[in-house]
Amino acid sequence: MTQVCKRCIYDESIPKISFDEEGICSYCRLHEQMDREYPTGEEGRKILNTIVEKMKLQGRKKSYDVVIGVSGGCDSSYMLCLARELGLRPLAAHFDNTWNSKIAVENIRTMTEKLDIDLFTHVVDNKEYTDLFRSFFRASVPEIDTPSDISLATTHYLAAEKYGVKYIWEGHSFRTEGITPPGWVYMDAKYVQTIHRTFGSVKMKTLPNLWMRRWLKWIVVDKVRKIRPLYYIDYNKEETKKFLSKKFGWQWYGGHHMENRTASFTNNYYLPRKFSINLRICEYSALIRSGQMSRDEALARVRQPRPVDPEIIAEIKKRLGFSEEEFEQIMNAPRKTYRDYKTYKRRFERMRPFFWLMYKMDLVPKSFYVKYTARDN
Ligand SMILES: [Zn+2]
Repeated sequence: MTQVCKRCIYDESIPKISFDEEGICSYCRLHEQMDREYPTGEEGRKILNTIVEKMKLQGRKKSYDVVIGVSGGCDSSYMLCLARELGLRPLAAHFDNTWNSKIAVENIRTMTEKLDIDLFTHVVDNKEYTDLFRSFFRASVPEIDTPSDISLATTHYLAAEKYGVKYIWEGHSFRTEGITPPGWVYMDAKYVQTIHRTFGSVKMKTLPNLWMRRWLKWIVVDKVRKIRPLYYIDYNKEETKKFLSKKFGWQWYGGHHMENRTASFTNNYYLPRKFSINLRICEYSALIRSGQMSRDEALARVRQPRPVDPEIIAEIKKRLGFSEEEFEQIMNAPRKTYRDYKTYKRRFERMRPFFWLMYKMDLVPKSFYVKYTARDN
């Protein structure tokens, strides 16, 4: 019998999980702790207002107060509204990995136009991106979407650097998205480089990689701070989707992170099939913990088959140049992890005291400090 948490739907198979005498898992307890650390309601509003006042002061002589990463998804679209509502002058920033869904592109346009917000976009060369994407497949690791995740983080910093902006807003919410267990996905610039050097052939010229040196410049010298505003408000995903579509004509694309086709393929097909990683468990558990979904509904939903668009799978094979046979070979190849390749991980571990300080100064998120600087075992 596998032990399942009495509150959420995490079970023994989740990395680093433990259960207390009440049968509640360590991730639920972490959620409770974060709930206290990041209060919502009136108290949360007060904290957010204080942050916003500081942002306005810092932005006085600049064209913008904050960079907000946009994907066309619900969280980032809502952040644009929130920023406007709080009287901020945001600059939207978007990394285009050339696999955006049509709806995502329309959503970004609709939201920025209707709220009169400028958009900074970085588009990667599609041959380069395809080569890198293919390289991650050949490496047989879970992180095939990492080049996008890391590039969008860099794009936000590039936008901030260009206009001298000191704040970046991130749309993460532990109450709706959850806390991804360490070991499921890893990312850093060195990892991207190693995989590319080992398996790729096209020269990287346009991919905005987050090299250690320039990242440290942005956090230590420029002091660009990352804020997660959704942590401080009563953020309800279903209500927000309705609000956005009613007020702006924003469109729902059918699932978390599904606005991008590589993300959709990764989360709904690649990770569950090759690594038995089901990110929906994460999302649903978070919704249970924050009272936005019942445990019974989560259990029922998680048993339903995942929505995988066969056209996306066909497109991936075609664009990456994989024959049916080669694709199956890759899907069935032995699993590897970032530990099999050269990364910055050891360096992050050695720099643990430094990153603790950076976390305390709001220059790196707590989740980075917790996950990346802890020793692997
Ligand atoms: Zn739990």
